[in-house]
Amino acid sequence: MTDSRIQLTEEDITGIQADAIVNAANNSLLGGGGVDGAIHRVAGPELLAQCRTLGGCPTGEARITKGYNLPAAWVIHTVGPVWRGGTQREPELLARCYRNCFSLVREHGLRSVAFPAISTGVYGYPKEEAARIAIQEARRALAENENLARVLFVCFNSDTRLAYEKALTEP
Ligand code: ADP
Repeated sequence: MTDSRIQLTEEDITGIQADAIVNAANNSLLGGGGVDGAIHRVAGPELLAQCRTLGGCPTGEARITKGYNLPAAWVIHTVGPVWRGGTQREPELLARCYRNCFSLVREHGLRSVAFPAISTGVYGYPKEEAARIAIQEARRALAENENLARVLFVCFNSDTRLAYEKALTEP
């Protein structure tokens, strides 16, 4: 079933105007490659300074900071699991990332949030399985939070877009 509050886009997440963008960070929260590097480059050094005060983040959890020079007011940093064949609780950990991000969205009264495809880059999570979890958790959050108006999934390449389109056709 499709929900018009769930949207797909192919932009760079650092340019997105939403109340929050989500960063696929690593346990240190001190920056890295991929989407993490891109977010820190655009947000500027104050983001790293705030991240240093947080003392890292365990896999599956999430932390919120300001967005600094980003168009988004907030950045929610979450640490996805590294894919190790699917036997190391990867699906549960990825679902917890999304749930913990949506908890912060709710606690802060945010109305829109944009996610990258967490764990599907360097961390190697299969795109279709990851998209299915992302859509399932977005549907759950939208059902539970009437203040939430828009959940945007940022697809950085066509494979990612196809994976989300497929997941959206599933019940
Ligand atoms: P992870 O370590 O969680 O796998 P990556 O940053 O390597 O994180 O990749 C996560 C996803 O973010 C991948 O689908 C990648 O293509 C995508 N990505 C990379 N840069 C950007 C960006 N600037 N905006 C949106 N998505 C991005």
